[in-house]
Amino acid sequence: MYVYADNAATTALSKTALEAMMPCFQEEYANPSSLHTPGQRAAEKLAQAREIFARHLHADPREITFTSGGSEADTQALRSAAALGARQGKRHIISTRFEHHAVLHTLAALEKEGFAVTLLDIPPDGVVTATAVREALRPDTCLVSVMFANNEIGTIQPIEQIGRVCREAGVLFHTDAVQAAGHLPIDVEEMQIDLLSLSAHKFHGPKGVGVLYARRGIPLVNVIYGGAQERGQRPGTENLPGICGAAAAFDEACANMEAERAYLTPLRDRLIAGLTAIPHTALNGDPVRRLPGNVSVCFEGIEGESLLLLLDDRGIAASSGSACTSGSLDPSHVLLALGRPHEVAHGSLRLTLSGDNTPEQIEHILRAVPEVVAYLRGMSPVWDELERGQRPHLI
Ligand SMILES: *Cc1c(COP(=O)(O)O)cnc(C)c1O
Repeated sequence: MYVYADNAATTALSKTALEAMMPCFQEEYANPSSLHTPGQRAAEKLAQAREIFARHLHADPREITFTSGGSEADTQALRSAAALGARQGKRHIISTRFEHHAVLHTLAALEKEGFAVTLLDIPPDGVVTATAVREALRPDTCLVSVMFANNEIGTIQPIEQIGRVCREAGVLFHTDAVQAAGHLPIDVEEMQIDLLSLSAHKFHGPKGVGVLYARRGIPLVNVIYGGAQERGQRPGTENLPGICGAAAAFDEACANMEAERAYLTPLRDRLIAGLTAIPHTALNGDPVRRLPGNVSVCFEGIEGESLLLLLDDRGIAASSGSACTSGSLDPSHVLLALGRPHEVAHGSLRLTLSGDNTPEQIEHILRAVPEVVAYLRGMSPVWDELERGQRPHLI
């Protein structure tokens, strides 16, 4: 048995998405900008895909821009809001310490260009409050960017309340909804979202396709220069197979959302209960206000990297934090922001489920993890000191 439990890093392409993509490669391969009949057919497919995203987000198709992924959508959203703010003399941006690097690194670039950035601290439950956002507002704030659901610890943010605070203050609100899209209901009107990013490969669509929703009237600045595609705001010949696959996957994910939640929540909770029964283990983030498929824990006295390698040997694909930080020795910025001490943050494990995971697979994980944790602790000098009382337990 090999268990794939790393769906926050990426998901398998769904059969529906693949079937939507296939004709675009060899039959409907024309360029949507071409005036001939095949070109117009391609343009029609593009319009249908845009319509699907608009419908599920409660937006207008003209507010949907296709990008190369979540990272590009985040970058363009932040740069657009910043440019608009700068034109009004507003150069202050509020975000949080546990955003994806696509947001954090764009903000770091904007700081070098003269913007001031306030990063909100993360409470121990991993849920940022609308009050914290309100208190950080300044007269020169032009943008608030708070992710919909965190990619490492899965906590869901009070987007509607934050949207209300921003709208009342006349400040643009962006949310990185990459982990939420297709898994949680999103309504840009009700939630008063001005800019939103999503990425197809996180909901069983293809890699390399993202969507940027921008409320009408918000001009986008170019991150890429070229032709008139996407109203000139995101030039380059459209990735029609990818876009059609993304739309089919989104349509399917939105239709299955409630069933997926009902299926995954008990599996998630069974995993959380089983793993937190291991001594000196803590769940990261709120137990309830989290994505239906997200389990994130810290084990004291072990290294997450060793845990991952041994779990891989036992046929389990997991992650220690986000795929983006694996390979570096720094502990996850998300777990540090949550207040986990360095040595605890190093012993993290993230298991993220999809509808393809079975109850048998959960039992397999629950057999393997306690054995591997006990084995690693048995070899760990740090654990030895903890057990002898030479250093205090932190969790
Ligand atoms: C995966 C992810 C991204 C990046 O999306 P790509 O399509 O891989 O560029 C951005 N934000 C969050 C929260 C993510 O999980």
